[in-house]
Amino acid sequence: MAPIALSFGTALALVVASAWLGALAACASGDGERPAGPRAPASGATAGASPASEDGPDARAARGRLVEQVARTTPGLDPKVLAVLREVPRHLFMPGTGLADAYADNAFPIGHRQTISQPTVVAIMTDALRLRGDERVLEIGTGSGYQAAVLSRLAREVDTIEIVAPLGEEARERLARLGYRNVQVRIGDGYRGWPELAPFDRILLTAAPPELPATLVEQLADGGILVAPVGEADDQILARWTKHGPALDRELLGGVRFVPMVSATPER
Ligand code: SAH
Repeated sequence: MAPIALSFGTALALVVASAWLGALAACASGDGERPAGPRAPASGATAGASPASEDGPDARAARGRLVEQVARTTPGLDPKVLAVLREVPRHLFMPGTGLADAYADNAFPIGHRQTISQPTVVAIMTDALRLRGDERVLEIGTGSGYQAAVLSRLAREVDTIEIVAPLGEEARERLARLGYRNVQVRIGDGYRGWPELAPFDRILLTAAPPELPATLVEQLADGGILVAPVGEADDQILARWTKHGPALDRELLGGVRFVPMVSATPER
């Protein structure tokens, strides 16, 4: 096992536990805490900035505590990843959810029988991508847009694909409103990737296919890294693949439970 797998040993037990909850959780979305109306990004916002106006001191404090907990239970995470988790207002990606749920280390329902990933899982997957700041990243499974927002603060550009149209549209609107300008959302089937924009320096799957999709491997740049959960519902492994010419190295990161990557387009 690579050193990264060892340092994530503790966290992966958590991943298994709460990703289970996430996968089993019922659909629950609402409008209770949705910020009113569209808003301009904070003044002086650069690409990827989040507006302080919608993010109060209580939310910041709760987020700070959550990130401390993530750092404690998952030693060895890149401090840059932790800094971004401290900054991106997860509760604004979970309308209708109170701060206690938004800043607990759990997956949570976002409607359409999908979930926003557990913060520890977001931290581990983001860390595993080894972003330096100049990459173009493809994400499969936009969901709420939270993971894309996190990636956008650590990479040059994030292109993200969501198969459930209402989720993708909501995430697109939310990311634009919050000022994440280096993210584009496509409604479509992630199994096809985004051929017009390929190759990608990094690819992240946040839904689990039964096996690694060949099309996505083709769309990975030479030297690029792909992180994905792969396998059937109760037998999934999170892994990192690195492309070296025609060869593909694989490192196993641990057992997980994600929602399945579907190939039909049921809600378009
Ligand atoms: N990254 C998200 C959470 C992802 S949940 C966040 O930060 O909130 C997994 C998402 O993958 C769901 O929204 C689901 O609809 C989507 N999905 C499943 N199969 C897909 C496919 N073939 N192509 C694109 N998206 C898919």
